[in-house]
Amino acid sequence: MSLRIVVTVKYVPDATGDRHFADDLTVDRDDVDGLLSELDEYAVEQALQISENADDAEVTVLTVGPEDAKDALRKALSMGADKAIHVEDDDLHGTDAIGTSLVLAKAIEKAGYDLVISGMASTDGTMGVVPALVAERLGVPQVTLLSEVSVEGGVVKGRRDGDAASEQLEAQLPAIVSVTDQSGEARYPSFKGIMAAKKKPVESWDLSDLDIEAEEVGLDGAFTKVEAANERPARTAGTIVKDEGEGGKQLAEFLAGQKFI
Ligand SMILES: Cc1cc2nc3c(=O)[nH]c(=O)nc-3n(C[C@H](O)[C@H](O)[C@H](O)COP(=O)(O)OP(=O)(O)OC[C@H]3O[C@@H](n4cnc5c(N)ncnc54)[C@H](O)[C@@H]3O)c2cc1C
Repeated sequence: MSLRIVVTVKYVPDATGDRHFADDLTVDRDDVDGLLSELDEYAVEQALQISENADDAEVTVLTVGPEDAKDALRKALSMGADKAIHVEDDDLHGTDAIGTSLVLAKAIEKAGYDLVISGMASTDGTMGVVPALVAERLGVPQVTLLSEVSVEGGVVKGRRDGDAASEQLEAQLPAIVSVTDQSGEARYPSFKGIMAAKKKPVESWDLSDLDIEAEEVGLDGAFTKVEAANERPARTAGTIVKDEGEGGKQLAEFLAGQKFI
């Protein structure tokens, strides 16, 4: 039977661009370019490698996000994923991690899965909690922060590297894993892959397709609320210490004045 792998991929604002909060203190996603979260590229890569080593496997990439989030799906499809699901609904605006996990869990259930692979964290929210929340909602084992992962005989195995030791972990499928940026370089889409991606299926679902009420998500359903946000102050000109024989002393005084030493 085919191994059904679902990879959760997030469309995030480009970290190299200027980012702002909107009037309702949510992240302004309309005026910034976005892209597939770099950390989720590792999840796609691991899914593709597992799929290539399996007799029969299918990789579905899933995102919850605005219209432009389709770009993240296209990138994952051009890397080699088989199909994509985009959950989009105006009522999702302002959804927090708990709400996002509800939408992802319902979509994963509807898609059908044996293994879910997530990134270790998104590059914008960086909470690193969504895989655990989704595991709890699905009622399946979670094996998080793996730097090596494989599937054999209905079991997912992997290595989690800590500061003091490396752990070998395994779980019976169905399960959810998250992979780190140490799991292996993500492949670049080939020209053939980019062309093939244009023909791959992308399904669009909204909240009603997932039997989720608007109140369960969005700003109103969020458990977390941003009370205030301020622009980061513009960079000021730095202090230049000219070395005219006293440079070292002046530098030490400056560092001491800033309480660095
Ligand atoms: C439609 C929508 C509107 C949002 N609006 C706002 C907003 O206005 N203001 C605001 O501050 N935040 C908003 N969010 C962000 C939302 O709060 C975060 O997605 C959520 O808190 C998850 O936190 P994180 O990104 O830190 O996830 P982490 O726990 O760091 O993510 C870990 C992994 O979970 C998976 N994952 C996380 N999010 C998604 C996703 N959306 N789709 C697929 N996979 C995912 C990825 O595999 C990722 O690597 C919105 C999200 C959505 C989907």
